[in-house]
Amino acid sequence: MAKILVSHCLLGCCCRYKGDHCQNDDIVSLAKYHTLIPVCPEQMGGLPTPRDPSEIVEDKVISCQGIDVTLQYHQGAQMTLDIAKLNRVDFAIMKLKSPSCGKGIIYDGTFTSHLKEGNGITVDLLLKNGIEVYHDEEMNKVFERLNETGKE
Ligand code: SF4
Repeated sequence: MAKILVSHCLLGCCCRYKGDHCQNDDIVSLAKYHTLIPVCPEQMGGLPTPRDPSEIVEDKVISCQGIDVTLQYHQGAQMTLDIAKLNRVDFAIMKLKSPSCGKGIIYDGTFTSHLKEGNGITVDLLLKNGIEVYHDEEMNKVFERLNETGKE
């Protein structure tokens, strides 16, 4: 049995900025054999739901209304890292493109739906602390990883 940190919206929690979720049934099905540990860094950092969408602009996180929410993003990231360490998770599955949970691809900071290479604030902190991270569109890699370790 693996311990897997997961973006809570992928498990059906309505914690996204619009107040909806983006449930991924492949990820939900992992709960049959593994321990899933849900986190929503933006809520844990103190932001409300629903909330204005935000994007990473240089070294800050700015809402579409121009509000600086960098502090909340970093607080949520630190709490997520603490939870990952306390639970000694094997790896994380995080939501692609999010300014918190995105891995590899995020919005480019112009609020025009354009993307760029990069990691969300939380994923960046997780990776810097040696936590292995996958995103929700690379479940083939997750299943391979679980097979390799015998934690299918
Ligand atoms: Fe989902 Fe992460 Fe955004 Fe929370 S912060 S809604 S878990 S993508």
